[in-house]
Amino acid sequence: MLRPILRLGDSILSEPARPVDVITPEIGTLIDDMIETMYAAPGIGLAAPQVGVALRILVIDLSVGRDPQALHVMINPEFLEREGMQLEEEGCLSVPGFTATVARPKRVVVKGMNRHGETYTIEGTDLLARALQHEVDHLNSCLFVDRLRGISRDLILRKIRKLAKAGKW
Ligand SMILES: [Zn+2]
Repeated sequence: MLRPILRLGDSILSEPARPVDVITPEIGTLIDDMIETMYAAPGIGLAAPQVGVALRILVIDLSVGRDPQALHVMINPEFLEREGMQLEEEGCLSVPGFTATVARPKRVVVKGMNRHGETYTIEGTDLLARALQHEVDHLNSCLFVDRLRGISRDLILRKIRKLAKAGKW
């Protein structure tokens, strides 16, 4: 089932997500819905708070559904390693219509659980490292605009406030 994607300004996006203790059938449904919603958007990553659930779950698929091997589902992700730096243009399904250059680690190793409760790690470089950092940021109530320096952040927030005033956000 598709779930609506919350936008910047929604309070759930600015509260830290809680760890998942038990993977219930409801969590399984949530994960299925997150994958479907990510593909429909279309996007390469989604975090549970973006669909209104403040739990530490992310889904990433750089192939947007074309390659079954490319789908990552991770519960309670934690960074084991982060190194280097990359500067690339980035956007977010919760901030539609806006992109900015964001500094991210070049390589990360993340540890967490899959949907069956088994611990595993993902090693990512470049775009995968960027996506992992972006989605874990969501779990810590941080959007990509929060990673920007003053002026570019203020510019985006000002435009969003204008859109919101006009009822277009
Ligand atoms: Zn995002």
